[in-house]
Amino acid sequence: METRGRMTIDPQGDALIIGGAIDEAAALHEMVTRAQGNRLVLDLGAVTFINSLGVRDWIRMQAAAQKAGLDVELRRVAEPLVHQLNMIIATRGNAAVTSFFAPYACDACGREESLLIDAVANAAGLVKLEPPPMTCPECGAAMAFNDFPERYFSFLSS
Ligand SMILES: [Zn+2]
Repeated sequence: METRGRMTIDPQGDALIIGGAIDEAAALHEMVTRAQGNRLVLDLGAVTFINSLGVRDWIRMQAAAQKAGLDVELRRVAEPLVHQLNMIIATRGNAAVTSFFAPYACDACGREESLLIDAVANAAGLVKLEPPPMTCPECGAAMAFNDFPERYFSFLSS
């Protein structure tokens, strides 16, 4: 496991597992040199925070990947990054998001949880802004999507 400032990088299989906070020390644009063949796969499930300088570096990474002709896949995109993808179109680049976390809440027991959505398997519903149904891990009741779908899923319709 490597660290760049408060960010961690852990290469596993075909993916680079990125965790922690993405800031000016992250040097994300250098990830492009780590592509395998024509693909750069980032697993972002453990990212907790990104600041404005981290966002700038993220956009540089996307631009460098496009220039190099790489296919970028983003897996398990954590909620702080989903918010950036929604707010700043330039952060999306040409990347394919194959799965991402989203907020759900259980009305029955009050549990709130960030749950993983498979963006490929649920593509048809997500285009129609329908959150996939989820079951509460605590009590087994149906959970409700805990954000506005038209806002939270907007990065998928770029
Ligand atoms: Zn529950």
